[in-house]
Amino acid sequence: MHMFCYQCQETGEGAGCRFFGACGKDEEVANLLDVVIHALKGLGVLHERLRERAGAGPDRDTELWVARALFATVTNVCFDPARMLALAREGVARKRALLESHPEAFAGLDDPVALWLPSDDAEIRHTAYQVGVLLSNPDEDVRSLRETVIYGLKGIAAYLYHAMVLGCDDRELSSFVLGALATTTRELPVADLIALALETGTMTIRAMALLDRANTQAYGEPEATRVELGVRGNPGILITGHDLKDLEELLEQTAGTGVDVYTHSEMLPAHAYPAFRRHPHLAGNYGNAWWNQNEDFARFGGPILVTSNCITPVQEAYRQRIFTTGPAAWPGVPHVEADPATGAKDFSPLVALARRCPPPQPVDSGGFVGGFGRTQLERLAPRILELVRQGAIRRFVVMGGCDGRALSRDYYREVAERLPHDAVILTAGCAKYRFMHVPVGEIAGVPRIVDAGQCNDCFALVNLALRLKEALGVADVNDLPISYNIPWYDQKSVAVLLALLSLGVKHIRLGPTFPAFFSPLVRDTLVKEYDLLRIGDPAADVAAMMG
Ligand code: SF4
Repeated sequence: MHMFCYQCQETGEGAGCRFFGACGKDEEVANLLDVVIHALKGLGVLHERLRERAGAGPDRDTELWVARALFATVTNVCFDPARMLALAREGVARKRALLESHPEAFAGLDDPVALWLPSDDAEIRHTAYQVGVLLSNPDEDVRSLRETVIYGLKGIAAYLYHAMVLGCDDRELSSFVLGALATTTRELPVADLIALALETGTMTIRAMALLDRANTQAYGEPEATRVELGVRGNPGILITGHDLKDLEELLEQTAGTGVDVYTHSEMLPAHAYPAFRRHPHLAGNYGNAWWNQNEDFARFGGPILVTSNCITPVQEAYRQRIFTTGPAAWPGVPHVEADPATGAKDFSPLVALARRCPPPQPVDSGGFVGGFGRTQLERLAPRILELVRQGAIRRFVVMGGCDGRALSRDYYREVAERLPHDAVILTAGCAKYRFMHVPVGEIAGVPRIVDAGQCNDCFALVNLALRLKEALGVADVNDLPISYNIPWYDQKSVAVLLALLSLGVKHIRLGPTFPAFFSPLVRDTLVKEYDLLRIGDPAADVAAMMG
């Protein structure tokens, strides 16, 4: 075996990528990724001890670095071995600095993970063969639960990183991330690991709330907005990923240049924020979900900026036009770094390139109405409640999460088509690309596809569910007229799944497959305790949900 990774839905043969990642990750990056996680666990152990012995917590720089390093290990973020190695080196350097600066707090420490201090790159690389997912956890149930927690933490880290970039911190959340990483190195009974997984879910809700606050403080409350899906005649820059700060800077630097900005995939919900809507050159959304980027990027014709996940193997058709920034990276692709002093990014090379490129070729037309973020849904809640009481809305079906390459994901389009006229789809994330063109109409002014935004905006959907619970006087969230039919792909959706489980939500349909990292015991426990279901036949599932 050259590598082992089973963190995403696309994993090889539904069991694990062993020679090459189905995502495009090679063994070098996969192994270095394992080492970065190992370094982060050690850093967690050291900070936990420092807190206990000296009452000192990590500084902001450490918290931001931890969030960024964990984020880099999420699927489809960083494919660059040099950057992954640099992260491993920095993790080791941070541990060494901590040990040297507080010798009294670490006296007598014999934790091998904390004290792993390789002397050179060769030792860092070699360590991968000792700390990989399979090698470090021989018990499959313990391994399953530890990895579930780590994947949930990766999701939290992504949300935390975006919030921190906007100046919104949560020390307790950062502290939880480091503490939970440390806990995954300990021998714990299965029950304790399950409790940690559920706590990770609770902290995911906190992370989503933090990012919601960061986004709305910076860019205003999202408003219901029609997003154009066609193109204009000017040259354009396509921005993809999730980082709204990058979009803000790009819009400012392209204002008045004659270059339009188009969003792609998970950047679509940005159109609903007042701060972005006021830019007339924010022209629309281009293309499909992340997995279709080869086609979309080739046809776009102008520069492309990837700000976070998801980037897929870069193709010749657009290799000369693609740039990365933030945690996203692909070897050989120009990476726009933030100025260390000001944090500002210079996107002028993209603007200059855009002016030499033809305008984008159309791939779609018409529009899509989104922007039902937390406050918009709160405003809509009384009307929704009235329609529920009248019987005009019989059921909500949450289909928020990820899209992906698997053909079986067409299930979600079929479900959208088959749902009866008194059912409303609540969505967030790129899952919506599967059914956004299904003409479902509306119910007395309430659209039958309600899009809350990016995947972190699942928080708005959770918030709506809790408001309905209160207003309808329902004691148990499972008695609400809501069914959860969640398409998952990467570790952010693992975090969202844990969040739902932590709220006690049962009968969740998960698809297109169950995670390979669920051991039979973990899977059976979730099926037994939470009635976790796999998606099946669309007609039968619709009938069951509506029943
Ligand atoms: Fe395989 Fe997914 Fe890991 Fe990529 S992220 S190597 S596809 S399991």
